[in-house]
Amino acid sequence: MTQLNLKLWGVMGSTPGATSPTLLKYGTNTSCVSVEYEDELVIFDAGTGIVQLASYLNAKELPKHIHLFISHYHYDHIQGLPFFNLVFNPQVNMTIYGMRHKLLSVKDVLDRFFLDPFSPIGLKYMQASIQFVTIDSEEEFIINDRLRVNSYFVTHPYGSMVYRIDSTNGSICYISDFEYNEIDHANLTLFCQRSDAIIYDSFFSENELHSSKYRGWGHSSAAMGALLAKESCSKKLFLFHHSINRSEEGFKELITEARSIFPNTELAREGTSLTV
Ligand SMILES: [Zn+2]
Ligand SMILES: [Zn+2]
Repeated sequence: MTQLNLKLWGVMGSTPGATSPTLLKYGTNTSCVSVEYEDELVIFDAGTGIVQLASYLNAKELPKHIHLFISHYHYDHIQGLPFFNLVFNPQVNMTIYGMRHKLLSVKDVLDRFFLDPFSPIGLKYMQASIQFVTIDSEEEFIINDRLRVNSYFVTHPYGSMVYRIDSTNGSICYISDFEYNEIDHANLTLFCQRSDAIIYDSFFSENELHSSKYRGWGHSSAAMGALLAKESCSKKLFLFHHSINRSEEGFKELITEARSIFPNTELAREGTSLTV
């Protein structure tokens, strides 16, 4: 029976390159997660973790099609894309999905990201066959009759899209960059129903989440992720999108808070994989 193979390539929020011994345990790259299913490859976000994913892919047979779903366009979710060297391979077939920003399509937004003089590489230099799909709201994408990806729009500065992937056997929810609020939480409880794993924005501890200092920063907490996993009857939770200012004690606090609500929780680390 074919299963979904999840791999975490980048788990940090904000910026890559943090070098404290504590952060090095989790990895220094920003958001990128892959899900392999037979010869299809689905990627969530193109933070700097996607560079490691490229090395992994270059060492094996190319996937039949790469589906890259971008949650939103903050740098930590797209800055690895120019260094994902498969985009320069004419044999690669790829679709990039991302939400509409005001009147701009996903292609318009990425064109701006690569604008002269910020990058020597524009989309026009990418020789892979790339299609672009702009997401306007909650949508469902069927990939090769075998996989289903659903999107859902959540609260974040300029908004953010979360995704759920389902095969006939398993399901994984990718919820990065989400400002906790009760309405979105209630809707996400339905969205994540009975999933095998949830990858969740755990930028904050419970104290930080409720501090007025951080209101509007656009993130959630480990404990709210645990509540979501519990209420949606999901099986496993990864605390994801770590703050680069988190101390060793701080990570312990996050995992303790989350496990008191939902025991099957772990801190996301680069290199972690899971088959469902
Ligand atoms: Zn982020
Ligand atoms: Zn963001």
